[in-house]
This record gives sequence, structure tokens and C-alpha cells, in this order.
Amino acid sequence: MIEDSAWIRCINCGETYSLDYRGYVCSKCGDLLEVILNLDILNINSWSIFKDRSRGVWRYRELIPVDYNRRVSLNEGGTPLIECKRLNEWVGLEKLYIKFEGTNPSGSFKDRGMTVAVTKAVELKVKGVICASTGNTAASLAAYAARASLPCITVIPEDAAVGKIFQAIAYGAILVKIKGSFDQALKIVFQVSEELGFYVLNSVNAWRIEGQKTLGYELAEEIGGECIISVPVGNCGNIAAIWKGFKELAELGLLRNLPRMLGVQAEGAAPFAKLVKEHGEQLNPIDNPRTIASAIRIGRPVNWKKALKAIRESGGDVEIVSDQEILEAQTAIARLEGLGVEPASAASIAGVKKKVEIGELDKNDTVVCVCTGHILKDPNLQLFKPIALIEVEPDREKIKHELHEIVNHLSMKNIHITYVKKQSW
Ligand SMILES: *Cc1c(COP(=O)(O)O)cnc(C)c1O
Ligand SMILES: [Zn+2]
Repeated sequence: MIEDSAWIRCINCGETYSLDYRGYVCSKCGDLLEVILNLDILNINSWSIFKDRSRGVWRYRELIPVDYNRRVSLNEGGTPLIECKRLNEWVGLEKLYIKFEGTNPSGSFKDRGMTVAVTKAVELKVKGVICASTGNTAASLAAYAARASLPCITVIPEDAAVGKIFQAIAYGAILVKIKGSFDQALKIVFQVSEELGFYVLNSVNAWRIEGQKTLGYELAEEIGGECIISVPVGNCGNIAAIWKGFKELAELGLLRNLPRMLGVQAEGAAPFAKLVKEHGEQLNPIDNPRTIASAIRIGRPVNWKKALKAIRESGGDVEIVSDQEILEAQTAIARLEGLGVEPASAASIAGVKKKVEIGELDKNDTVVCVCTGHILKDPNLQLFKPIALIEVEPDREKIKHELHEIVNHLSMKNIHITYVKKQSW
């Protein structure tokens, strides 16, 4: 008998399923599932098989148990790891890196999960794909569904960021806008998907995690495991995925040290961070999550059990930041490094800054902040103040005069990193 190279397992009761299992949760106990690689028979004992391949999710194809030859890919992953030589001072650290996921095909890390999960959808021969989304999942799924020529439905709360909705429309998804929260959108998705024969691609779907774990593989190759990885947390999928990636490499013997995982949530949407801070065992969901960072505006994080494991196993921690702190971090990243990230992504920096301030991070710690999505996802002209704005007639002399004044007073050392509430253009 040939031994399986991978299977699906319930995180609670341990029940196992074959890889063609179509369900999203355990049919015995209803808990989350995860894909388990049989690392013994994979027999990968050096980096050499990966080294000569181009960067990206599929560089690690042996560790992703779907049909590589049928992959639905837009060359996702392989994102830059950027050392921040000005932002680090603002944060108070010697060594700070940003893993910039905004360079993914649809502008967020969600593409890593979608390339794998939509490939699985094709394998399973589903009629279509569906998701609930605060925006980025919808944008990403719509792109990969177009690529796979699968019908796609996205269910989105009405306050989603405009750039993300625009993408879903552009890639040809059916849009359902609901007057309600993400959590309500997800409930509706499960109520309608079965009857339609559509496959649910929310992060409860373990195949999404199988793609997102490559963020951990990449970081392991780029910087190793002796660091702290700060991740904005909404549905708790990504932080669990990154940890899974690191752990698999350690179990294969390809990595000696493991990082500590730091999960950052926004004040008005922090049920997971509260659970960790209170050393609890059960999540207390909230009904009206509020934060400017729409990608992490989630009150009932589906993957909280996996994330809790990631924090505890890694000796990690959580932090809670205010919207003000998030926006200041977003501005600082843009103005000090020229990197545009969306508000949720900036939470990773804001959380680290806070940890340094309260003395829970040492200035010599090496920290990687995962900046999950691109700034153009959520352009907010109301919140950002230009460092200078001249409103005049197109008169050469007048403009020259004004610019002279400004340029003479401009100091690149003291750039404003506060934001103003209202700004008229
Ligand atoms: C989805 C998303 C998150 C949160 O990730 P989870 O896996 O839901 O915890 C953070 N930032 C951005 C930009 C996202 O799109
Ligand atoms: Zn179970």
C-alpha cells in the first residue's frame, strides 16, 4: 500500500480525511480542518530543490499538495523584504523590516491563498466559487476565478473600501452588497453556497492557509527564524498560516530557529487579542466591530483556535492599537520609506511601536512587519494632509514665489506624521 503524502485533519478530534474531502469543517465535531503533510515521505532534506526556481508560492510546490500542473496562478508571492532605515528610528528599533505584500497581483497577501484554493476548486470540479469579504478576499478571488474561468460571487458589507470593490467588479464577480457586517456576510455565504453548488473560499477553507503559509517559507529563506513577526489579525488565518510554514520547515530540518509571532488588532475589533491577554480558552465574539482598518474589522474570527496555537507555541504575544495609532503608522511608513500600505497593514507597525514603548520589545530585537495590502486599496483623501498644498491661479510668478517659501522652510528631517481629520482639496 502506498502511504499518502498528505491528508486533512480536524484540529480538535483528530479525525482524518483524504485530500478530496469537499467539506470545510470536521463532519464529526464541526471544528476547523488543516492540511497535514507527511514530511517523512516527502523526503526534503535540503533547500537545494527550491533554490534554482523563481520566487513565489509555487517555488515550494512539493509542500503544497494540489495538482501543480493544473495551478491557477498569477505569479503571486515572491514579495520584497525591505529593510527600513528611517522607520526603524520612529519605531525605536535597530533592525526593522517590512514584508510588502502589496506587490501581489491583486495587491494583498490573499493571492497566496487563492492560487492554491482556486486550484483545489478546479480539482474538485465545482460549479463556481463564493466568498464573504471585507474587500481583499473578494478582489483576490474575483481575479483567480477569472483566470480559472469560474463564476464568482462575492458578499461584501456596504462599508468596504472602494479600491477593493472596484477590483471585484473589474474582474467580473457577481457582487452582493449587504447592509451588515463581514460576520453576517459570512453567515449568508454558508446559507446559500450548498444549494448553488458553489465552493466557499473564506479562510475557514484550509486550502487558503496552505497557500498563505508560503509567506513563512519566504521569510525563513530571507531572514531565518530568529526574529519577531508582526501580523495584523482579522480572521486569524494569516498568522496561523505563517506559523504553519515556519513549523513545517523546522520539522523538515531546514530551519533551526523559530520566530515569535506578534498578532496586532484594532481597538474596536480585538476579540482575539483580548482572549490572549486574558489567558482565556474561549473567544468572546463582538457584534459591532469598529475600526478604520476595514480588512481587520471582524468580530468573530473564524480561525482563532489556530491563531491561539500559533501565539502560544511560538512564545508570541498580541497588541491592541487605536485607529489614531494605525493612521500615524500608515503615514509614517509612506513618508519615511515611500511605502504605501493600507490601514490594516499599518497596524503591524503600530503594534510594534507600542511594544517598544511599553518595554516588551528590546531595541535589538529583529522585527519583520507583514504589510498585508497596498495603499491604493483604500485611498482616503479625507485623512491625509499633503505636506504642502498650494492653491493658486496657473500664474508662473505666483507659484514660483510660493514654492520658494515652502522649499526654503522644508526640512526632510521633520516630516509630519500626524494626520488631520478633515482636508478639503
Ligand atoms: C485579510 C487581511 C488581513 C487579516 O488577515 P486574517 O487572515 O483575516 O487575520 C490583514 N490585512 C489585510 C490587508 C487583509 O486583506
Ligand atoms: Zn473533529
